[in-house]
Amino acid sequence: MIEVRNLRIPLESIDGTPLGEARARRTRALRALGLREDAHAEIHLLKRSIDARKQRVRLVESVAVDLGDPSREAKIIARRGSRDVLPHTPSVPAWPHAPRHAPSHRPVVVGAGIAGIFCALALAHAGLEPLLVELGPETALRREAIERFNASGELDEHANVQFGLGGAGAFTDGKRALAEAGAGKRILSDAKPHIGSDVLPGVVDALVEDLRAHGGELRLETRLVDLFTEGSGSGRRMRAVELEHAGLVERIPARCVVLATGHSSRGVFELLERRGVALEAKPFAVGVRIEHPQDDVNRALYGHFWESPLLGAAPYAIARRAQNGLRCFSFCMCPGGQVVAAASEAGGVVTNGASLAARNGENANAALLVNVGGPEEFPDDPLGGVALQRMLERASFERGGGCFAAPAQLVGDFIEKRASSGAGSVTPSYPRGVAWTSLDDLLPETVASTMREALPAMARSLPFFANPEAPLTAPESRSSSPVRLPRTADGQSVSVAGLYPVGEGAGWAGGIMSAAADGMRAACAIISSLDEREWAFDNGIS
Ligand SMILES: Cc1cc2nc3c(=O)[nH]c(=O)nc-3n(C[C@H](O)[C@H](O)[C@H](O)COP(=O)(O)OP(=O)(O)OC[C@H]3O[C@@H](n4cnc5c(N)ncnc54)[C@H](O)[C@@H]3O)c2cc1C
Repeated sequence: MIEVRNLRIPLESIDGTPLGEARARRTRALRALGLREDAHAEIHLLKRSIDARKQRVRLVESVAVDLGDPSREAKIIARRGSRDVLPHTPSVPAWPHAPRHAPSHRPVVVGAGIAGIFCALALAHAGLEPLLVELGPETALRREAIERFNASGELDEHANVQFGLGGAGAFTDGKRALAEAGAGKRILSDAKPHIGSDVLPGVVDALVEDLRAHGGELRLETRLVDLFTEGSGSGRRMRAVELEHAGLVERIPARCVVLATGHSSRGVFELLERRGVALEAKPFAVGVRIEHPQDDVNRALYGHFWESPLLGAAPYAIARRAQNGLRCFSFCMCPGGQVVAAASEAGGVVTNGASLAARNGENANAALLVNVGGPEEFPDDPLGGVALQRMLERASFERGGGCFAAPAQLVGDFIEKRASSGAGSVTPSYPRGVAWTSLDDLLPETVASTMREALPAMARSLPFFANPEAPLTAPESRSSSPVRLPRTADGQSVSVAGLYPVGEGAGWAGGIMSAAADGMRAACAIISSLDEREWAFDNGIS
């Protein structure tokens, strides 16, 4: 097959239907290869993005062209080959190989978020029969708990937007595995793949089925409560974990433990500190969620094509630096989405954002963040960032009246430093309702002043940022981990061999894709270490 990259298709050259887009794609791909339009060829879409710069909207696509005749394809590549015309070999996803011998104890993976699931899947495909333990319940019960919380404010600390099977968000890298598990083929070609928080639980269930089919075991509602090591200094290594289920505590021998508990598992950070596992404060970011009518975003980005069904709800990303040197940046922008009630601890309000697969909500929302924390701010306190998050979340809970309503302010009032007293034309979508207030005395001063300076600067590029009635809902405090677990080159904790901290909570991943990749990387490292151990054994080296 021949890969043809960077086909630029002006939107005005398409009749506005998916069939029209497929026709335009075919015409341009064949033209790039010097072939006639009626040539016998199959065109497969590999990647699709939207370029809406400079008041023009173009689709930018890469395709694989199958002429059914490899020698003819090779001749065309020899004649027309360039950075954009090259041989194409379909990628075949491969799980890691099985190590030569089984380990003495099966690996234990703690946390069934995306990092833990992909790590356990890779270990299972390699025949290592991992045990995956997850604090929260299965997806249907978790969804019920989230709906109950949204409706009544009754928080289940083990089943919420952060905790439960599937973890904190949940699409992932290993996109192909996700597509096979039901996420839809489109995620394999879209430059900014999106699954949808309504579709994801089904995807997670399919991945778990695959895990079980390959010899892995999943224990739900089972919490890591302690870990035990042996040896000291550089010879310290994992010995066992203690798991709690339905009030019963069980100690399980474990030489190899993958810690994939996410950035919100504060109990695990405290446990690690107590057990002398190396931790350090990591820079993270806090701020608010900002909402605008999605139609305003579409108009600003797509001009007169803003209603085209080929484009969907427009995303944006923006950052501006303030005079104090700090950047205010948008993060996790959710086209046609909803601000989410993402609390996981009693007495603390947390916001986040998500979109359903259809991205058809009235508002667009994005986090608007400024960096805080890190080893410079907390040189002697690895959990200083956690304390800062907690303070912000508790103050917001109080301000919201103690029922998980979130404090909110209109952009115009925030800029003018006056408290808001009610909604404007944009209705905030946070499900527990908002309490209109001033955010200045809630947010750290540097965060509020950086945001105040950045908002008008952002409006110069994205005019909808000038909307004084756009609501700011606080706090967005869990955008990334405030803690990092230092690791060796092969991914083990620098203080305990056999302990593999992975994913967002370990401070080595940011988002679903990188968390899944980090989980897979740990699985590969575990398998390699088993191969090496056997090699050392075969050679009489202990
Ligand atoms: C509402 C929302 C929307 C998001 N949207 C996006 C997005 O669009 N794109 C993106 O890239 N990222 C997004 N994220 C971030 C993304 O979800 C995280 O980066 C990702 O989930 C990290 O995966 P993880 O496996 O490292 O940790 P997590 O997903 O946090 O998983 C950790 C798991 O460990 C379990 N656990 C915790 N403590 C214990 C314990 N003691 N014992 C046993 N189990 C335990 C938890 O219940 C959880 O299931 C979003 C997050 C949220 C909350």
